[in-house]
Amino acid sequence: MEEKRYYQKEIETMPLEEIQRIQSEKIVKQVKNVYDNVKYYRDLMDAKGVSPEDIKGIEDIHKLPFVSKADLREAYPFGMLARPLSDCVRIHSTSGTTGKRVVAYYTQHDIDLWDECCARAIVAAGGDENDICQVSYGFGLFTGGAGLNGGSHKVGCLTLPMSSGNTDRQMQFIMDMGATILCCTPSYAAYLGESLHEQGYSADDIPLKAGIFGAEPWTEEMRHNIEDTLGIKAYDIYGLTELSGPGVSFECEEQAGMHINEDHFYAEIINPETGEPLPEGEIGELVFTSLDKEAFPLLRYRTRDLCRLTRKKCSCGRTHVRMSKPLGRSDDMMIIRGVNVFPSQIETVLLNEGYTPNYQIIVDRVNNTDTFDINVELTPDQFSDKVSDIAKMEKDLVAAMRSMLGIGPKVHLLPPKSVVRSEGKAVRVVDKRKLHD
Ligand code: ADP
Ligand code: ZN
Repeated sequence: MEEKRYYQKEIETMPLEEIQRIQSEKIVKQVKNVYDNVKYYRDLMDAKGVSPEDIKGIEDIHKLPFVSKADLREAYPFGMLARPLSDCVRIHSTSGTTGKRVVAYYTQHDIDLWDECCARAIVAAGGDENDICQVSYGFGLFTGGAGLNGGSHKVGCLTLPMSSGNTDRQMQFIMDMGATILCCTPSYAAYLGESLHEQGYSADDIPLKAGIFGAEPWTEEMRHNIEDTLGIKAYDIYGLTELSGPGVSFECEEQAGMHINEDHFYAEIINPETGEPLPEGEIGELVFTSLDKEAFPLLRYRTRDLCRLTRKKCSCGRTHVRMSKPLGRSDDMMIIRGVNVFPSQIETVLLNEGYTPNYQIIVDRVNNTDTFDINVELTPDQFSDKVSDIAKMEKDLVAAMRSMLGIGPKVHLLPPKSVVRSEGKAVRVVDKRKLHD
């Protein structure tokens, strides 16, 4: 039997010219659709002096105005709807990591399209109808649970709709049901792995073979840590509520960037300062257009996620453009004493130096100077009550941080279990400066 490697082979391996032809057809229709049906867009386009007739193909997309999260908040609750509510079958909402929630609407067509994107991700991670897929992303307004649940159904896996939390029950179902694919945030995967080991299981005992992890930034070092602990291959998946949810892009077995489902979502990279499109390969802000969503179609939506795109041939056979792991959102970047710092850089140093991914970054301002502290938890093995050992370890870690970041934090090595674990999106940074503003 031929190994099933794609969920929708024809689309996923389509030559670029063919993809562009489809994109062009869809964008012309979509622009006309939003101009006719969404006053908010009509006003934006009129203000920019663009009419639907100006958009003749995907190459004209740069003529359209951008849409930002602020627009979505302004248009809340119904201002961006392109279909009557009677055509909509569900809503979801952002987790509100960076402010007021955004509500997104779906017709049945939109749900099917989204489920298919997630199904592509599951098949790319080696999934088929013989798999048992444990969905431990949150269910509810958050898109993680619903998206992977829908994808798992399409693939025909036996689906375990666990939602997040209740770690004992999660472990019980992995072991008793023999779950083979785990879907959750990477920080929760790390926590589950740690907890299974505490129960005496080793990577060899754990039936999982693959994990599909996303919804938050995570580093390569974190990937290796999870892969070793759970004995799996860990795949990245990316998405956002505004576009549907997880599955906008996903990793294949090459684990070298995530293929964007570009028959549905057209990606651009722009200079976040000027809004100018950047050439392939340069890092900038990711901008998406939903080409064929019905209820809540977004044109040139600024994600604030920073990454780069590549069209280099991928050996998996998929032709869709790949995006690099987002460095984090532009708003995740901390400016500490004038230096740009990303949480992902800190995670890289910690894991390279042999620490666990249990850490928290605390930034504050005291007497007009930024303070920068990192709490890092030790494993029971690392934990030593000899004060001189701890002091030496802290000193070494500060030096490693300084060489990566160009600025030295205060490092606090803490006893095991002193940093709170995350069941969903981890809170890595507490920036108290914002409270004083
Ligand atoms: P919120 O914006 O409130 O967190 P969402 O749950 O829709 O709402 O989150 C989408 C955001 O999550 C993305 O814009 C991105 O910043 C982040 N994200 C999602 N998947 C990944 C991933 N695989 N790697 C890094 N960041 C991710
Ligand atoms: Zn690939």
